[in-house]
Amino acid sequence: MAIAIWYEDGVYKLIEYTLRALKYITETHPSILATRASIHYPLHCPPAPRSSHLIVKTLLIILAKPNKVGCGPLPFKQNCRFTANSSKSMNIHEYQGKAILKSFGVRVQEGIVADTPEEAVTAAQKLKEDLGSSWVVIKAQIHAGGRGKGGGVKLAKNHDQVKEIAGNIIGMQLVTPQTGPEGKKVKKVLVAQDVYYPGESETKEFYMSVLLDRAKGRNIIMYSTEGGMDIEEVAHSTPELIFKEEIDPKVGLQGFQTRKIAFNLGLSGEAFKDMTKFIAALYKAYDATDSSQFEINPVLKTSDNKILAVDAKVNIDDNALYRHPDYAAMRDTDEEDPTEVEASKSNLNYVKLDGNVGCMVNGAGLAMATMDIIKIAGGEPANFLDVGGTANAETVKAGFNIILSDPNVKAILINIFGGIVRCDRVAQGVIDAYKEIGNIPVPIIVRLQGTNAAEAKALIDNSGLKVYSAILLKEAAERVKEVLAL
Ligand code: GDP
Ligand code: MN
Repeated sequence: MAIAIWYEDGVYKLIEYTLRALKYITETHPSILATRASIHYPLHCPPAPRSSHLIVKTLLIILAKPNKVGCGPLPFKQNCRFTANSSKSMNIHEYQGKAILKSFGVRVQEGIVADTPEEAVTAAQKLKEDLGSSWVVIKAQIHAGGRGKGGGVKLAKNHDQVKEIAGNIIGMQLVTPQTGPEGKKVKKVLVAQDVYYPGESETKEFYMSVLLDRAKGRNIIMYSTEGGMDIEEVAHSTPELIFKEEIDPKVGLQGFQTRKIAFNLGLSGEAFKDMTKFIAALYKAYDATDSSQFEINPVLKTSDNKILAVDAKVNIDDNALYRHPDYAAMRDTDEEDPTEVEASKSNLNYVKLDGNVGCMVNGAGLAMATMDIIKIAGGEPANFLDVGGTANAETVKAGFNIILSDPNVKAILINIFGGIVRCDRVAQGVIDAYKEIGNIPVPIIVRLQGTNAAEAKALIDNSGLKVYSAILLKEAAERVKEVLAL
């Protein structure tokens, strides 16, 4: 595979050996903290024709923000760093995930979503009529797991309890091991049938996920007998209890594999058979939906030996959403970082970081170099922002607004390479955007290189605005140093 590294003034050079390139990057690019660096392929791309641009972007995002991208399926960070990146995979709610699974024939714990305690009671009544379940569980719908531990999953034995519990959960700020200390506000609950009813045998909770193993370049099914709320602990202290089954893309998931998994889970008889069906349907759903990850914890064996999904964490690959408009409509932007939502509306590729120098750049490779010079100049990048190939007044303005919404920003560095887009156009865009926004409280350094760079510099220098211009990267770095020292 090839990896592109940005060189001063617009030349991409392809380096054939990933490891050599990685070593080079980590040694020469101070903005990259690459103790655990690895290259991750974009999802569902065959290994051969990949754009070098995409790979640099991938690298950059992984390395620049390890926490952000490492927040995915908690026990298995090393496999899924990129899968978990919010800009590359869409997270949906449990009730939506279950609806998708069900449409592929995966048996799920049935439920009805509710926005108010009254709706929750109606839902519980309907579940009783349709399924005969008189007990229900009330489950907070937020984009984070560990809800049970945070008090977001509660059993209700009658309608009064349904109303009371739903009333408590809806509107609460739910804190779980995955939300961070600020928690997430609950807007909806899923009222679900109680599936832990007593019967001929014990209930049993398993863990199962389907995901892409990037090191192997294959989908895998990961599973464990130790399902339930403590899988993170299992992965940490007894990783040998987690099994992996690799799927050969040439032939897909095979019958012997579903039987092997059911056997390893200790099942027999009806439950064994049902588990093989469950796994086959689950894998089919994963494949057909272009998902980047499914995590079902727990998969439950009921007391009457049925296998079903009690929980469903479904992540769909962003890059494939155009093929699934019905899933794309499931996006709940309330659950996402508001600045990143704003950026994606303007088609900007934005990742927030923790530094003090905002940057606006065209192209991921140049963005990487820009973050380096900010570091060299003694600053810390406040963000990664790629405005793409068509920087104009509109995109520049959207970029300014997004960068300025971060109170840590003390200076903004705009670094645009004018190839197809002419530098004087971009300069005019900067000036127009500046005038339109009004008073921008931080100094702006603009470095334009390429077609009509000199005209662009003249435009900026004569604009009368508090904008510093530079043509060379070195000059831009010096300006950054100067304004940070002010
Ligand atoms: P999470 O904590 O966010 O992963 O939410 P889950 O959907 O996995 O639910 C958490 C826990 O609630 C499960 O591990 C079960 O132990 C429990 N639970 C879920 N559904 C039921 C149910 O129908 N009946 C009972 N008694 N417990 C349930
Ligand atoms: Mn769960």
